[in-house]
Amino acid sequence: MLVHKPLRIRVAKDAGFCFGVRDAIEKARETARTHGKVYMLGDIVHNERVVSQLERENIRVVDSIDEVEDAPVLFRAHGTTPQVWELANQKNLNIIDATCPLVHEIHDEIKKLHTENRKLLIIGDHGHDEVVGIQAQVPGAIVISNASEAHAVPRIKKAGIVSQSTQMIENVQEIIGILSMKIFDLKFVNTVCFPTRRNQEQIKDLAPISDVVIIVGSFTSANTKRLHEVALRLNPKSYMVEKADDINIDWFEGAESVGVSAGASSPDELIEEVVEHLKHLQVKAHV
Ligand code: SF4
Repeated sequence: MLVHKPLRIRVAKDAGFCFGVRDAIEKARETARTHGKVYMLGDIVHNERVVSQLERENIRVVDSIDEVEDAPVLFRAHGTTPQVWELANQKNLNIIDATCPLVHEIHDEIKKLHTENRKLLIIGDHGHDEVVGIQAQVPGAIVISNASEAHAVPRIKKAGIVSQSTQMIENVQEIIGILSMKIFDLKFVNTVCFPTRRNQEQIKDLAPISDVVIIVGSFTSANTKRLHEVALRLNPKSYMVEKADDINIDWFEGAESVGVSAGASSPDELIEEVVEHLKHLQVKAHV
């Protein structure tokens, strides 16, 4: 017999904004309050709702330093290239550095590896702002995003490797495994940040014990997509949603429990909206 039953909802303890993003948003708000306005080079996080909310608080997104005129410019949590820093300094701009300290650490690590005369490799997504920022710290670093690219790397005598902060641990391990067969003297600094590792661990605990998994975040957010990939490996009924309305009741037929997590760029209120929606779902369960 089928009856309507409320779902048992478990939310990952640290779902949503990481401290790097939280601090950057706080700095942007504080600067806009004290200076009337602040510019940002590109979106502060990959989340349309957060960006449009911040626009209403006079936090303006621009594509280039040339567009910054009469207010401070905030450099985002992802990090910024030395070239952009130089341009901003030449223009005498008031720079608010909101680069996450863990991204600064990656920049320091790759520069150290450079001083050791190593060929430099970055495990990360091509074209992602954080990866572009890391690559620009040193000359000649190459980006490896997956196992097939790692297979294509020629033999190297001495190399140094760092990773983008939000990489999936399994992807990093697989790439390192391949490269270790090709590189004689390999030094790998694991720069996947601890909030990313913690989020991935929490979803690994949650996915197998949930009938359905919901990952909240923007489809443009790389770390949300990665969290979804981790969940999918353990539970095929794992879905990504940008907002509560994206939830499809058909996903829950016969389900009794749902696990919820969110990418590092998803605001708390979005997660709360999704949880609230799940509380009121009229799910049919077998008894
Ligand atoms: S994901 Fe990690 S490195 Fe990136 S901003 Fe957040 S805490 Fe910092």
